[in-house]
Parts: sequence; C-alpha cells; structure tokens
Amino acid sequence: MTTHRLVADDMDMIDVPREECGVFAVYGESESFDAAAVTHNALFSLQHRGQESAGIVVSDGETISVHKGMGLVRQVFTEEDIRSLNGHLAIGHVRYSTAGESLLVNAQPIHARCSLGPIALAHNGNIANAAELISELTSAGAVFQSTSDTEIIVNLLARAGRPSIAEALREACLKMTGSYSLVLLTPNSVSAIRDPMGNRPLCLGRMAGAYMIASESCALSTVGAKFLRDIEPGELVTIDADGLHSVKLLESKKRAVCAMEYIYFARPDSQIDGKVMHLVRKEMGRQLARESKIEADLVIPVPDSGWSTALGFAEASGIPIDIGLNVNRYVGRTFIQPKQELRNRGVTLKLTPIDAVIRGKRIAIIDDSIVRGTTSSVLVSLLREAGASEVHMLISSPPWRYACYYGIDVPAAKELVASSHSIEEIRRFINADSLHYLSLDGLYAAIGRPADEICVACFTGDYPATDASGV
Ligand code: SF4
Repeated sequence: MTTHRLVADDMDMIDVPREECGVFAVYGESESFDAAAVTHNALFSLQHRGQESAGIVVSDGETISVHKGMGLVRQVFTEEDIRSLNGHLAIGHVRYSTAGESLLVNAQPIHARCSLGPIALAHNGNIANAAELISELTSAGAVFQSTSDTEIIVNLLARAGRPSIAEALREACLKMTGSYSLVLLTPNSVSAIRDPMGNRPLCLGRMAGAYMIASESCALSTVGAKFLRDIEPGELVTIDADGLHSVKLLESKKRAVCAMEYIYFARPDSQIDGKVMHLVRKEMGRQLARESKIEADLVIPVPDSGWSTALGFAEASGIPIDIGLNVNRYVGRTFIQPKQELRNRGVTLKLTPIDAVIRGKRIAIIDDSIVRGTTSSVLVSLLREAGASEVHMLISSPPWRYACYYGIDVPAAKELVASSHSIEEIRRFINADSLHYLSLDGLYAAIGRPADEICVACFTGDYPATDASGV
C-alpha cells in the first residue's frame, strides 16, 4: 500500500505548512513623517508570515538607507537602528525562505542601482519559472548575489530597458509565472503590485498624512491606519508627491486566492478580499460540525490557530469548548527555524495537556491541517496520556495531497501523508478514534467566494495557470 512509512520514529518532527513572507510600504506626505518607525511597528504585526529575517529600506527623497538582518523583528532592529533610518517613505519585509536559503544575503528588501536609478524591492510569493528565468538571465550576463528568487525580479526590471517603473514592472511581470505581491521603493515613490491571480493578499490603508500597503490588514490596524481596500489582482498602485495612482497593469484571467490564507496563514484579525479571517474560520468550524456529526464531551482547539474554527464547531455542535492544551508562548512558533534538528521536540515543548480538563472525556480536537501526520499523532497521544476516553480529530481543510508552487513551503508530495494514504489509514497512524476533514464544498461555503476564485491546488492538484503558459 505505501510509499510513506507510517511509523513513529519521526514523531517529534513538526509538520505544518510554512508561511511565506510579509511586505509593507508607506509614503508619508510630510518630510517629517517617520516612515521607519511606522514600518517597524507594522513588521511586528506581520511577524507570523516570516521569522527568519527582516529588513527596512527608507528614503528621504534623495538618499536610500537600508537595515536588515537575520532573526525576528525585535532581534534585527534596535531603537538606534530605527532612529538612523531617516525618511518619509519606506518598505519593509519579513521573510521565511520558500526559495533560497536562510542567509543574510537573501534577506529583503533587496536594493540595487540600475538604469531606473536606485530601487529596493520586497516580495511575498514564489516565482514558479525561476529556474528558467535564471538560466536566461545568466546567459545574458546577469550575476546573482543571492539564491532568493526576488533577485530575478530586480534583474528583470533592470534589463527591461523601459523608462518608467510601471513599464519595467509590466515587462518583468509578463515574463514571470507564479505568485507575487511586491512592494518597490525609489527615492521618491513607493509602488505595489499584486499578481494577476491575486494569490497572495495585499491591501491599501490610510492614516493622517500617509498611505500604506500591507500583506495583511492587521498591519494597518497596528499602526492606527484605516483599511481602504484590497489591491486588485494585476493592479499597480504608486504613491508619490502627487498622491495615489492606480493602474490595471496586468490582465487578470483567473482569480485564485490561496485557500490556506483563509484556513491558517493570515491572522484572525486580518481581512482578505472582504472576508475577516476569524469569521471565515468560525464558519469552517460550523461546516465541520455539520459534516462530521460526531459525539463528544468537549471541544479542544490546537492553540492558537485552531481557536476560531473550534468556536464555530462548538457553537454548531452544542458541545462545550475548553482549553485542554496549554501553549508555551516563549517557545515561539514551532516552525520558526527551517533546519529539521531545530524543530525537534517542538510539539511537546510548546503544548502540554491540562489533565484535569481532559480526563475521562471524549475529546474533539480541532486543527487546521495534517501534513506528514506526525504532529497529529503526538497530539492524540498527549490527550490519551492525559486520560481522554476517546480522541476525535477534526481538520478545517481538505486532505493536503499536492505540492504548492506559489510560495508555501510544504514537503514534497510524496511526504504528504494524504498523497498516498486513505483517511482511514491516516486515522490509524495518528491513533484517533475518528478523523474528519472539511469537504471542498464546505471550504468554499465557509470562505463565501465562488469556487473558481480560490486556489485549492494542494488539495485537488488542479493548479491555476498564472499566465498564458501556465505553471
Ligand atoms: S497550492 Fe495550496 S498553499 Fe499553495 S497557493 Fe494554492 S491553496 Fe495556497
């Protein structure tokens, strides 16, 4: 039956999909506007999208200054660093390495001096045809200093031979497939573009005297800005001394927003394309309760991401909800480091059961996904050791069977437990009394957008073509 060994020798591996990156841009209308301080605060609220490196590039209208480093935002910037970044416009980035290694040279924003003048760029997404573009560019004499695919975009811009940023961006984007939400800084403007399928989120906000653009609306709330709207797929927004300009730069043939943003990645207080994540996830929980119809005494979320779904599940099922797993917030997110040995023992370091809540009860545990199955198996055994009489595992996504080419770091398809095993085989492996996944129709209903506007390729293998040539 199997190509994947359903054994427990890798029990302590953490198997969750990893997020990509977060981007932010701000343009202050007054020269005294402190763009670095605002960007620094915004990056804290995007930290869940990338924890390996962070960076800010600012401009005072003439001079561009850069500070970036490895680690969390609080580790990369001191108060003095922020004070030294003078200027009223800035872009910022937090990174998880979906393409390229976790090295300082790959930290973003990437900055360069080219025929367009000094530019800096930060990217969330994944260039699906990166290998082909690197080969073309190196044959034409390009030199790459990093292994990040964002440098490809810088090279495409520099070699576009176009007089304006907008034209160079259009030329570059037409060559790329995959997903990208980009922010770009010149000495006197910031720009942002969302790929034609709108795969990664990107939104626009306003506070007194400044416009800003962020991967998620939670960054706008954090800095006291008002959410104005999402950037549309294929739209280029530029902010400069003349105000805000918007142009539909790229034709959008098919919208394909990443379903995993709704299920897990985006913060619960963020909204994407008109939907607030907490409310979408609550609806996923209600759908899951209607579909699974299990009998249990207590609903327990896997903290913290399972909370919204578990609240909806408890509401629709009538089963009480409680805290059954205590989270140690000082361990950090379990997938904070990419190297396997640093993730070892992450589950038990981070989560401990509250025996007095669990003992003797039939537990319905709510999580967002199963990747290899190893984390779920540890969770079930933690609950059984704490005295649960039954453990029912409920997952707020369909089975994850296929790789992602759009910027989410998941193991190769052969390592995904659902790619080669039935739900019953996975249930046996994780040793749960029952296992239920949210159906695809249930997912669409909870998100509340038409099925043909959501990317669900990691569940179905049906990848949205990202340009005329597809992926
Ligand atoms: S394949 Fe899955 S993770 Fe990747 S963009 Fe599509 S829905 Fe998101």
